[in-house]
Amino acid sequence: MFWQREVESIDRGLLEKIQLERLKETVHRVYAHIPFYRRRFEEGNIAPEGIRTLGDIRKIPFTCNEDIQVNFPYGLLAVPKDDLVRLHTSSGTTGRPKAVFFSKRDIDQSTELIARCLVMTGMKRGDVLQNMMTYGLFTGALVMHYGAEKAGILVIPSGSGNTNRQIMLMQNFKTTAIHITPSYILYLAEVLEKKGIDPQRDLSLKRAFVGAEPYSEETRKKIEDIFKIDVYNSYGLTEMNGPGVAFECEWKQGMHIWEDNFLIEIIDPSTGDLLPEGQYGELVLTTLCREAMPILRYRTRDITSIIPGPCSCGRTHRRISRIVGRSDDMFIIRGVNIFPQQIERVLMGIEGVARNYQIILESLDEMRVQVEIDRGIFDGNVDRLLRFQKDMTNKLRSEILILPKVELLEPGVLPVFEGKAKRVIDKRTL
Ligand code: AMP
Ligand code: ZN
Repeated sequence: MFWQREVESIDRGLLEKIQLERLKETVHRVYAHIPFYRRRFEEGNIAPEGIRTLGDIRKIPFTCNEDIQVNFPYGLLAVPKDDLVRLHTSSGTTGRPKAVFFSKRDIDQSTELIARCLVMTGMKRGDVLQNMMTYGLFTGALVMHYGAEKAGILVIPSGSGNTNRQIMLMQNFKTTAIHITPSYILYLAEVLEKKGIDPQRDLSLKRAFVGAEPYSEETRKKIEDIFKIDVYNSYGLTEMNGPGVAFECEWKQGMHIWEDNFLIEIIDPSTGDLLPEGQYGELVLTTLCREAMPILRYRTRDITSIIPGPCSCGRTHRRISRIVGRSDDMFIIRGVNIFPQQIERVLMGIEGVARNYQIILESLDEMRVQVEIDRGIFDGNVDRLLRFQKDMTNKLRSEILILPKVELLEPGVLPVFEGKAKRVIDKRTL
């Protein structure tokens, strides 16, 4: 199903023409209204007229996280303050918060993008979406909320947490879809199990839109298996409106990124060089439709790749692969670069692993993985438990190339996160 078929399956040649028009317009506007960008252009001897092709974007320097923080709060506005209608800030998982402002047109635009996302998964009038993201400064809940309403879907603004009430709402109003973080949905599964509620038998759930933090394909499978629903990956970041930047269609083979709104590049994070389709690198985004706060070449620090080739759904906007991690999430143990995602992938692929884990970096060459496992494995058979632990350790070693300490725990021991999870505890910096 399409929300705007002509836009979503637009001819690529025409799409690139529109992108170029919008890029030129954005470049002129930031030069005229945002002193930070004007200075950047002047320092680099770039004139807005010098941007004549999409490739010319590479003449423009990157915008980084720090640039947004330094210009806090109003330094990156391209419109008068009176034109602003909404403020969001980033969740502040990495450093100081960043303020992002929306004009009325920006609200409309981000709302349209969410409507596209939801409809392409098959959502329609009559569906009931329980929005289990935190309402407030975080974009996750409000942006999704507006978009779902626009698509004619009934939204339950339950927010995150209060799991018993969530379950009651799901039962009372026959919730068909939820919007949720991967860590919270795994916790929800645990609570349902404890209460003896069978998701398939006792709930009306068909879909979950899961995002706001990285998770692996193995976790997706695990969630789909527990709930017997379709899980769609949803990607976004505050600096780019929040959710609705990229989303999976019904084929669930990578996330379509809305290229009429965002110009995408994948770069080598260490050199800044452009990488070809198919290669993993850092995603860099330029807003093409943002009115209040346009951003050029924003380094997201998220590591992904552009999936080559068309999608079976007929949409022509390219797809990005699951985010493997953030360049700043990566840690180094014994000289080896490791993403928490690699560990999650291994753990969630092992039968008997429950839903929660934690990584503790003890020193420069020592890490500990604490993982909750199903109760059945604690049935008193020590040999079996030791074999399980050894097998897990070996699997981890073949993925991350170093030997971690593995600690097996009963379910419910590790901290639970209603919003974004904190999986890595770095004792080296405490
Ligand atoms: P925030 O600006 O606080 O909403 O955080 C945005 C960040 O969350 C992104 O830059 C990603 O690192 C992460 N994120 C959001 N959605 C996903 C997703 N589906 N998969 C992996 N990481 C995600
Ligand atoms: Zn598709």
